Amino acid sequence: MENKNSWEMYDARQLKEIDVFAKEYMDFLNNGKTERECIEVIVNKIEAAGYQELDSLIGKKKTLKYGDKVYSVWMNKSIVMFQIGKRPMTDGLNILGAHIDSPRLDVKQNPLYEDGGFAYLDTHYYGGVKKYQWVTIPLAIHGVIVKKDGTTVEVNIGEDEDDPVFFVSDLLIHLADEQLEKKASKVIEGEALDIIIGNKPLVIEKKDKKDEKNDKGEKDAVKKGILEILKENYEIEEEDFISAELEIVPAGKAREAGFDRSIILGYGQDDRVCAFSSLKGMLEIGKTDRTACCILVDKEEIGSVGATGMRSHFFENAVAEVMNLTGDYNELNLRRCLSRSCMLSSDVSSAFDPSYAASFDKKNVAYLGCGMVFNKFTGSRGKSGSNDANAEYLAHIRDIFEKEKVNFQTAELGRVDLGGGGTIAYILALYGMNVIDSGVAVLNMHAPWEATSKADVYEAKRGYVAFLENADI
Ligand code: MN
Ligand code: MN
Repeated sequence: MENKNSWEMYDARQLKEIDVFAKEYMDFLNNGKTERECIEVIVNKIEAAGYQELDSLIGKKKTLKYGDKVYSVWMNKSIVMFQIGKRPMTDGLNILGAHIDSPRLDVKQNPLYEDGGFAYLDTHYYGGVKKYQWVTIPLAIHGVIVKKDGTTVEVNIGEDEDDPVFFVSDLLIHLADEQLEKKASKVIEGEALDIIIGNKPLVIEKKDKKDEKNDKGEKDAVKKGILEILKENYEIEEEDFISAELEIVPAGKAREAGFDRSIILGYGQDDRVCAFSSLKGMLEIGKTDRTACCILVDKEEIGSVGATGMRSHFFENAVAEVMNLTGDYNELNLRRCLSRSCMLSSDVSSAFDPSYAASFDKKNVAYLGCGMVFNKFTGSRGKSGSNDANAEYLAHIRDIFEKEKVNFQTAELGRVDLGGGGTIAYILALYGMNVIDSGVAVLNMHAPWEATSKADVYEAKRGYVAFLENADI
């Protein structure tokens, strides 16, 4: 059972196609550094491809028919798309799922303070991060500030060449003897991940010569200077941070890596690599027998919780609405539809890293460039928390992929008993449908800059097309 390297399979036409595909993927990463930004990019792409908003159809007597395309966005952070098949939805859907949230630093609700002449924003990290990786690198601020009157200020600072960036400081090596004795998990503490946002005090002009106290030494003058800038540029007050969602992410664009340009290095590829390739698969398919569906959700990195996470009922509600518009809805039909569905729950898989070879089982790990990855199970310590896909289902998937000549490999995250992780697979499996974990291999997973193979991103898209067009079990 040897892995095949995808690069060895491609002809000149495909190699060209892969570069075009990678370019569009990198644009997706650059323009979608938060869930909200991803949703905006996705909606633009799918509306251009003829998708209509589900809400605009509800209540109108317009029925959905074979080949129609609809989507529903939930709270600007999650989306589900449907392309209606020839057969009734009660026969089940072919579903792709991935997540569009990524590890980062979130700005707290009372974040702004001054210390030692610096103005800071206090943060709380989101998802699993090696905290020491986030110091001294250029950071950007993305997100929204919603004011009391309901107006939303969109923030995106640090990506343009002319924009300022932000950073978390680290202790100089010359004084770091004590720091370097600490465990890596403690060397940078969570509360030390506050970003520096300024160092210049606000100077208030003196009204007359006697008014010395305004001249210098004003308390929190740097913070006041920042507030002045925020007021001027965004018309916001300090209190507006209360209703803001600001995400601190690595500044800069995704890049090709290696002399051979075979690798993509970029932020947020867990799991936007699967989200993008699923989306592209969804847009590439022709009319299908079974209704095709793609779910791209928020909050996977913190347990799929909240109204926009996979555990929310927004997906089930959307299926009910779509069934209603196809004329098939009743409670029993909805249950039948969901239990007869097939799903590829896509998330990134750890790529074998020769520098840390002992952390992997070489026979059961994904290799960069060796195709789409299937994880029969995930979980940790005895498969705990895993969705363990049914053998019959895996056999069906193997058959489809071999017929469609899609390169794939099977893997586990890492060595038994070393750790593990979960995905959204178990949540959809609650309906009784067939679900398997699949996706793309990533090196440096959860680091500020993650690496994927261009070939794998392309091969994943090919796999999603094969699945949507052929899965039927
Ligand atoms: Mn993930
Ligand atoms: Mn993750």
